[in-house]
Amino acid sequence: MKNRLIDSQGRVVNYLRISVTDRCNLNCCYCNTSKREFIPHDEILSYEEILKAVEIMAKKGIKKVRLTGGEPLVRKDIDLLVKEINKLEQINEITLTTNGTLLSEYAGKLKKAGISRLNISLDTLNPDKFIKITGKDKFKSVFEGIKAAQEEGLNPIKINTVILNEMNSPEIEELAELSVKNDFHMRFIELMPIGENDFFQKHQMSAESVKKIIENRFGALVKADSKPLAGPASMYKIRNSKGQLGFINAMTSHFCAGCNRIRLTSDGKIRPCLLEDDLFDLKTLLRNGAGDQEIVDLINFALMKKASAHEIMPDVKTQMVSIGG
Ligand code: SAM
Repeated sequence: MKNRLIDSQGRVVNYLRISVTDRCNLNCCYCNTSKREFIPHDEILSYEEILKAVEIMAKKGIKKVRLTGGEPLVRKDIDLLVKEINKLEQINEITLTTNGTLLSEYAGKLKKAGISRLNISLDTLNPDKFIKITGKDKFKSVFEGIKAAQEEGLNPIKINTVILNEMNSPEIEELAELSVKNDFHMRFIELMPIGENDFFQKHQMSAESVKKIIENRFGALVKADSKPLAGPASMYKIRNSKGQLGFINAMTSHFCAGCNRIRLTSDGKIRPCLLEDDLFDLKTLLRNGAGDQEIVDLINFALMKKASAHEIMPDVKTQMVSIGG
């Protein structure tokens, strides 16, 4: 079939994740942005360049776009990019992953621009621990951001919590309880060994053990059927709750067989797999006035290099803040 992107394993790729910036206004302990240099501004793709890449990929079967970063809301006028992507008839879903700190300013603008849904990262409900995990005193802004998203009706709101043994593990029940009265999908994500490895060894904890802690407190969880919203998460519910719980076993069980994703980094590289450092330079083609077919050829070439599955303990040199999650 001509108008589809298909990878080396025959998987159809219809979901593009775009990192719009490598900058972030938090410095999370597992991301550690302060230890790296930012990419110079002129190396970052402009909105026009991003849009051109999305337009070409949309004609080849991309239907869903997620904007991420760094922190996507620190990039000026991000809602204008959402608005332009939303004009592409082939794209039926635009989502954004944010740390929520600037969301009270942006929730309305994003809704107006056509955002479908938001993923908000929140690892703790304790303002002091928030500072410990993120390096910044911004818990209140995140909470206000979540409220603003709720008021705009951007439901269900997915809240992503990276499970950190001995850091936020004592709060698992409290975090899960947020799904009882709110239409939140509380998603517990296994920490991936990206960046400093001793941090990973110390704080790694399985999603399965998180599920057990929640079941001990709230009783057996009920399987929730939330496809296609769930992505790689296994979805459950606390009985009679409004929202849902998701468990993302990024490390203990692979979901590569169903991978439908391709990534575009903020400096214009195609990254076929989250946990493999292979990169393919799209920016040079975009800036040298390459034709659409040349760009599609590079994307197909990158997809042919996509492995069937990533390593269980990948040796990823790129930090998550550059990849976007
Ligand atoms: N700034 C945005 C945010 O905070 O959501 C988007 C970028 S952030 C890199 C995307 C997601 O990746 C966040 O939910 C973050 O918690 C998660 N993340 C970062 N490093 C991770 C790691 N080593 N293992 C698992 N998740 C990670």
